Amino acid sequence: MQVNYDVLIIGAGPAGIFTALELNKHDKNLKILIIDKGRTIEKRVCPERTQGYCSKCSICAITSGWSGAGAYSDGKLSLSPEVGGRITDYMSPEEAQELINYADQYYLKFGAQDVVYGLNNQRVEDIAYEASKYNIQLIACPVRHLGTEHAYTVLKAMHDFLVNEPNVEFWELTKAEDLLVQNGKITGATVVSKGKQMVVNAKYVVVAPGRGGAEWLKDQTDKLNITTENNEVDIGVRVEVPNSIMDHLTRDLYEAKLVYYSDSFDNKVRSFCMNPGGVVSGEHYDGDVAVVNGHSYADPKLKTQNTNFALLVSTRFTEPFNQPIEYGKYIARLANMLTGGGIMVQRLGDLLKGRRTDYDRLKKSTTIPTLKSAIPGDLSYVLPARYLTSITETLKAFDKIAPGLYSRNTLLYGVEVKFYSSKVKVDNHFRTQIENLYTIGDGAGITRGLMQASVTGIVVARDILNKK
Ligand SMILES: Cc1cc2nc3c(=O)[nH]c(=O)nc-3n(C[C@H](O)[C@H](O)[C@H](O)COP(=O)(O)OP(=O)(O)OC[C@H]3O[C@@H](n4cnc5c(N)ncnc54)[C@H](O)[C@@H]3O)c2cc1C
Repeated sequence: MQVNYDVLIIGAGPAGIFTALELNKHDKNLKILIIDKGRTIEKRVCPERTQGYCSKCSICAITSGWSGAGAYSDGKLSLSPEVGGRITDYMSPEEAQELINYADQYYLKFGAQDVVYGLNNQRVEDIAYEASKYNIQLIACPVRHLGTEHAYTVLKAMHDFLVNEPNVEFWELTKAEDLLVQNGKITGATVVSKGKQMVVNAKYVVVAPGRGGAEWLKDQTDKLNITTENNEVDIGVRVEVPNSIMDHLTRDLYEAKLVYYSDSFDNKVRSFCMNPGGVVSGEHYDGDVAVVNGHSYADPKLKTQNTNFALLVSTRFTEPFNQPIEYGKYIARLANMLTGGGIMVQRLGDLLKGRRTDYDRLKKSTTIPTLKSAIPGDLSYVLPARYLTSITETLKAFDKIAPGLYSRNTLLYGVEVKFYSSKVKVDNHFRTQIENLYTIGDGAGITRGLMQASVTGIVVARDILNKK
């Protein structure tokens, strides 16, 4: 079976959604098809969140479906081009800021809350000064916090708007298999839609498969001889502490983005995705690799006593090694192996004493874990010494500006891995070497967050509109 569209968008995450929103805003005659291997937004149900256990769904409801990895995200919209990706490699910081402001208007239009953290410059400067005394860099970034429940409703509102437009279609449970190219020009893709194989012909194809689809994209770019380069892989843990320890930082900043170079290895270690009053959560890739994440709700009634954040060590591997995603997954699988498939948790005190956290020791912890399904264990059997040492040295340094962080009751969940591999070679409009084929968002190794992923969609839409 064959079907014809003007634009095929592969992946209904923020990158794909914003491509469709911007195209549709300016041209109601363009026939647009968005496909996603996951489900439509209201059918995305994660057993971990509803029943407290992960049933390792073959299509993870956290990472796949309408709104991509954004549906259950914490919905922190980073409003500075310095955070959440590398779009400034493709445009000036001024252009990037303009596009962020433009994309932010879409979020507001679809119901985002009008509250931005991190705008109190004096307070930000004070924290930055305090941090710099201990060789810690604070990256200042205003943040609009949607909260998990509002991220869902805002992205659902975008869904409801788009599917009601006569020129836009969304197909759930539809996986792109192969990109089709003739004479150096994209012609569409083969897809499997609810079990049925078909060919979607399209003049333009926008590939936005997110981190979960990064390996598939790498496979396609290899087949089509599109140049890619290794990206970093970020490996680390999720840290959980009582709110009181982080309050003085998160109150004004919401998220304190801190960077430290570890004492022994000089590795870059950064805090990421900070969730005051949040919960630690799990997510799955390929139905088998469980990694840890975190989020928080905006509703004060749903706030917890704890703050969580990722502490990640960045590594960019050099030649001949070219499998950083596999490396990250390998480490995650080690943790999964020791826990019987789930997320591991350890008290910092036990880690420093060289012993496993077991259920009895975990019960004594004054920090009560919010991820109830986490299995107490020993991260030193999982993370290479370079990572573990860098993480503990960073916690010790951060303790200077957040006293209590380097406590025996600080919880470390493992492992958190961010796959940013295989940066696809694209020009400033995110065009690949194949005519009319674009690739954007996290899966292309260009972005790492909702806002920058959204911006890449806008850039591509404008390029398609200009070409017509
Ligand atoms: C728990 C969690 C919390 C987060 N919190 C934040 C936050 O607070 N702030 C922030 O900025 N970012 C956050 N992020 C990251 C953010 O969600 C991503 O950066 C963003 O969603 C990337 O957008 P994207 O469109 O590139 O990809 P994605 O959102 O990953 O979407 C890609 C989509 O493509 C689909 N797909 C993949 N391969 C195929 C294929 N072959 N065929 C069809 N469909 C395919 C996938 O099913 C997926 O739905 C969080 C992520 C998680 C998981």
